[in-house]
Amino acid sequence: MERTCGDCIFFGERIGIVRTRNVCELPGGRLRAVEKTEAACGSFQVSPRASFGLGCAAGVGERGAVAPAAAALGLQCTPGRQVLCDTHCHTLFSRHAYSTLEEDVRAAAAQGMELLGVTDHYSSMLYAEQTVQNWQYFLNLWAWPRRWHGVRLLRGCEADIVDLDGNIFGHDIFFENEISGGKHRRPYNLKKMAFKQCDYVIASVHGKGFTKDASREQITRMYLRVLEDPKVLILGHVGRTGLDFDMDTVLGAAKERGKLIEVNESSLIAQKRAGSYDRCREIVSRCAELGVSISFGSDAHVASLVGHHEAVDALLDEVHFPQELVACRDADTFVGVVESVIGPMAE
Ligand SMILES: [Zn+2]
Ligand SMILES: [Zn+2]
Repeated sequence: MERTCGDCIFFGERIGIVRTRNVCELPGGRLRAVEKTEAACGSFQVSPRASFGLGCAAGVGERGAVAPAAAALGLQCTPGRQVLCDTHCHTLFSRHAYSTLEEDVRAAAAQGMELLGVTDHYSSMLYAEQTVQNWQYFLNLWAWPRRWHGVRLLRGCEADIVDLDGNIFGHDIFFENEISGGKHRRPYNLKKMAFKQCDYVIASVHGKGFTKDASREQITRMYLRVLEDPKVLILGHVGRTGLDFDMDTVLGAAKERGKLIEVNESSLIAQKRAGSYDRCREIVSRCAELGVSISFGSDAHVASLVGHHEAVDALLDEVHFPQELVACRDADTFVGVVESVIGPMAE
C-alpha cells in the first residue's frame, strides 16, 4: 500500500548522518523538497512514519520495502527502528537553546513522534543568581497541554548532578519568597520545587570539575545515589561525559529499579563529539546483554533536530539491539514506564 499525499508521494532521503531531506514527488515525477514544519496533507497526518518519519513511503508493516518513488531514484530505504518518543529536548528556557515549546512539539509531530518529553536544563549553567524569580518556569508546568498537535507532551527537566554524593543541583538552595514577593511560612527547597511538577527527570553530568581526581568507585557510587532519587528516571548521556564507572553495577541498578539509560542522538554526531561514539556503543551493547532498557533523546537545542534518531537507529542496528528494551518504542510503553517507576502522572 502506498501512502500518498493527494496525488504525490512523500519520502525521506537521508543526506547525512543526522539529516533527512523530505521529498514530495508530484504527479509527473517532479520532485520538491518538503520542510518538516510544513502543514502536511491528510495522509501524512494519519501516518507520518510512512512518509517523513523513517524514510519509507511504503505502508506501515512493510518496513524495509522500497517506495516506488524512492526506487525510481535508486534510493535504498533502511529498515527503520520504531522510536516514537523523544524524551529529551530543550526550549528557549535553557538559554543556549533556540526554539519555543510549541515549535518543539510541532517538530515532533512532523517527525512522526507520538510523545515528546521537554526537558530543559535545571542547572547552575542558567543563572548566576539563584532566585525564585529565575526558576519560576518550573512553578507552572501544569499549564502545558497533555496533548498538542497530536503529540503527547510530558513535562521534565535535565537536572545536573553536582557532586560525588550524587546530589542534584538546587538540593542545598532554599527560597523564602514567593514570586510575587510575599514571604513563605518557611523556606522551601529549589530542587523540590523544580521536580514537583515534572513527570520525570533526566540526571546528567555537565560541569565535570567535581569529578576531577575521582576514582572509578566514586563515580559508580555517584550514579547509584542518583538512581535512588525517586524522580530520576533516566541517566542522561552517560557515554558522552567520559567518566569511568563500573558499567555492570550502574546498569544493573538501573535495571533493578526499572530506570533507563539514555541513548543520546547528539552524543553520536561524530563531528561534534568525536570520541564518544565508541563509549556509547559499549554502553548500549552492555544494556542489550544485561537486559537494561534504554530511552531515546535527541537532546535537540533547536526544533529542527527534535525527533531525529537516525544516528541512534544506526547504532542500535549495529549492535542488534532488542526492540523490547527500547522504552521509547511507542507512547504507551514510555508512559507505562514513567508511571510504574515514578507514579501516576498529574492531569
Ligand atoms: Zn544544553
Ligand atoms: Zn540536554
